[in-house]
Amino acid sequence: MTQVRTTCPYCGVGCGVLATAQAVQGDPDHPANRGRLCSKGSALAETTDLDGRLLHPVINGEPADWDSALDLVASTFSRAIAEHGPDSVAFYVSGQLLTEDYYVANKLMKGFIGSANIDTNSRLCMASSVAGHKRAFGADTVPGQYEDLEQADVITLVGSNLAWCHPVLYQRIVAAKKRNPALKVINIDPRRTATSDLADIHLSIRPDGDAALFNAVLARIADRGAVNKAYVAAHVSGFDAALQAAHASNPVDSGLSRAEIDAFCDLWIGAEKVVTIYSQGVNQSVCGTDKVNAIINCHLATGRIGKPGMGPFSVTGQPNAMGGREVGGLANMLACHLDIENAEHRDAVQAAWRAPTMATQSGLKAVDLFQACASGKIKALWVISTNPAVSMPDADAVARAISNVPFTVVSDVMARTDTGDLAHVLLPAAAWGEKSGTVTNSERCISRQRPFMAMPDGTRADWQIICDVAARMGWKEAFDYTSPAQIFREYAALSGVAAQFGRDFDISGLSGLTDTAYDDLRPTVWPVPKAGHQGGRFFANGGYYHTDGRARMLPIVPPAVQKQAEFPYRLNSGRVRDHWHTMTRTGKSARLSQHIAEPFVEMHPEDALANGLHDAELAELTSPSGRGVFRVLITTRAQRGSVFVPMHWTRAIAPAGLSNAMVAPVVDPVSGQPALKGGFVAISRFKVGWYGFAASTAVMEPTRPFAAIAKTRTGWQAEVAGCKLPKDWESEARTVLNLSGGTASVLSDPVRGTARVAIHDGVILQGVFFASAGPTAVARSYVVSLIGTSADALSALAGRPGIDQPDCGAVVCSCFNVGVNTLRTAISKGASDLDSIGKRLNAGTNCGSCRPEIQALISASLQSMAAE
Ligand code: SF4
Repeated sequence: MTQVRTTCPYCGVGCGVLATAQAVQGDPDHPANRGRLCSKGSALAETTDLDGRLLHPVINGEPADWDSALDLVASTFSRAIAEHGPDSVAFYVSGQLLTEDYYVANKLMKGFIGSANIDTNSRLCMASSVAGHKRAFGADTVPGQYEDLEQADVITLVGSNLAWCHPVLYQRIVAAKKRNPALKVINIDPRRTATSDLADIHLSIRPDGDAALFNAVLARIADRGAVNKAYVAAHVSGFDAALQAAHASNPVDSGLSRAEIDAFCDLWIGAEKVVTIYSQGVNQSVCGTDKVNAIINCHLATGRIGKPGMGPFSVTGQPNAMGGREVGGLANMLACHLDIENAEHRDAVQAAWRAPTMATQSGLKAVDLFQACASGKIKALWVISTNPAVSMPDADAVARAISNVPFTVVSDVMARTDTGDLAHVLLPAAAWGEKSGTVTNSERCISRQRPFMAMPDGTRADWQIICDVAARMGWKEAFDYTSPAQIFREYAALSGVAAQFGRDFDISGLSGLTDTAYDDLRPTVWPVPKAGHQGGRFFANGGYYHTDGRARMLPIVPPAVQKQAEFPYRLNSGRVRDHWHTMTRTGKSARLSQHIAEPFVEMHPEDALANGLHDAELAELTSPSGRGVFRVLITTRAQRGSVFVPMHWTRAIAPAGLSNAMVAPVVDPVSGQPALKGGFVAISRFKVGWYGFAASTAVMEPTRPFAAIAKTRTGWQAEVAGCKLPKDWESEARTVLNLSGGTASVLSDPVRGTARVAIHDGVILQGVFFASAGPTAVARSYVVSLIGTSADALSALAGRPGIDQPDCGAVVCSCFNVGVNTLRTAISKGASDLDSIGKRLNAGTNCGSCRPEIQALISASLQSMAAE
């Protein structure tokens, strides 16, 4: 089967892949990854089936044809606009969209409907970086490129668990450090993450202590005479005010000791080639934009920007967050980095689009948009390729707000999502592997996403759906595209208009691409002002985009320490290694679902002690806006007073496991980005009557007070807990397992509060259920492996393998299904480094995403062996 060269649909690294419907491998020629992939990218072929897909439009829960659905969407939006004005409607779109999809959605809303009420889930991801770039540089320009990581002497990571969230960049740093052991890596994060294990120094900063820390660095830069006076004099304004603010701020507010700050400053100031990478730990904060500018201030003061091996570097979370920024997908931007509130820019875009009306001011940003849904201001809402009922802060209130909108449309690839469940109309979109277009990664590299499978009957590309609606609203001529290539050419030509206003984003050199040349487009770093010219770094010699051509340093005042007496724990949230966003895609892969199969709360041992909690028990977290129930994971990697909860679990798979239900809708005042890492919670013990684990051939419903389902190779598994002991364990087991037929074998001990139930259909084991008074101790991977086999009741109810069958334990290496027990055994038998583990077990030798965890296991095992 012919391999197609395309791009991974997950994170902002934007790795190239070679794909068929059966297999995906890294593209050795793509500059982002040179053949590497992480665990998520490696498992892409497991996520492309039609299981769970939306394959026809739906109106009010009933299947419908495309014409009826599109007519209804167009007429309802048109009527709302006619009766209540253009600002009565809104689009909420996604960094998952391809640039061409994004471009036409933005064109429709801003140039034809005449409102700027289009915002995107990228608001949750990097809006503070955009705002910080615009304040400092005059445009949303990323100065550097990935190769800077290989050229740097010091890499500082701020609020960025690269090992799990941008794994291939992490692998590039690992390789760079191996080649150049003098390369120093500093990790700044309240948590000790997998990324910290690579770092020479881990700085467990206080949450939001970043601004105080980088103010301290700026003050030291000046004190030590490390200011690049020539660069500042020629290219930078605001130095004195920024330095004054830095001197006025208290380094102790960073939460670090003087010795830690000294060590950091020695490294950061002492090396010329410094890259500072930052992501959501910086952005998702009430002071995210200030944190971005505190970092950029230090690079501007030293002139360490835009040259090989140096510069501030915001890495985006989503595959096309950058593309969305470029097309003006945020409510406060116009296409091609033009400004919505600049009349000349608006007129130029209006002329290029031949648009009847243009939005003249910023629209509603994400949090405001859903609050307008709640208040009744929004009469028609179109959510495209995203799941705000889970991902927005105050997620339960957002779900209620969406329910309050008189007419909600959701375009998605999946039939069931928490947001789709609230829609009046569902429109089935084409998925990754079926659709065609471009994406831009964190280093400004535009890559093609090419189809390698036919679109399933009943689905359409997002750009096509948007154009179909636009045509029915009366704008057929302006949206009469026949291909993504045609959209791309228009967009590239518009960037040439933007360049005439001195904007950075110029890909007009691609505006003449033929359809064939577009199909063949190689990864291309912008700017591309002329055919054949591409890329490069910005700002080594100034050339900023403020009208005077100078950058701005900003005076940064770090925030006061935030506390809430009744909710004393700071709630941090983020990704796990093997899942993506709300799991609609990665949740389809058994391999990915086995690494971490339930929502958890990571907490420091002393905080666990203070709340009477033990490992693997359940904790209830409450905040003013919501609650959740999570498995307790006690670790010194957590900072005292802070807890961490992953962001991926939804109502459909773990109803009590939504991190964002507990986060207040507080935003950064400059960027409008929600402070998703700034929640406050109280912790209590969740009163559990029984704990359980179940594995079944059937899809289970997560209906118990605590329940989290996950895909396995043979069906599904569930972690469950109930508050009251059931009267009949067999009946309880059948309900949890979703198995009504077959023969049940039951073992129960009322005194100890335990029960075990196995259900066979003939000789085939259909399901096993375990319940106990405390956390259920069974060998999960072993139990799961028995489902669908002819294992007898005795083996199933034993819950662990016999003496002759080793229990591999929880999966660490997803690619080769190597568990923690297997790894520990190999280490005890002399495999004392990653290479020897790889040789014996293959673990860590494919995508490499598990290597930090294996290394941590090796270190811990060797330490305990030495202590024995
Ligand atoms: Fe995809 Fe992983 Fe590459 Fe990100 S690092 S683009 S998730 S393969």
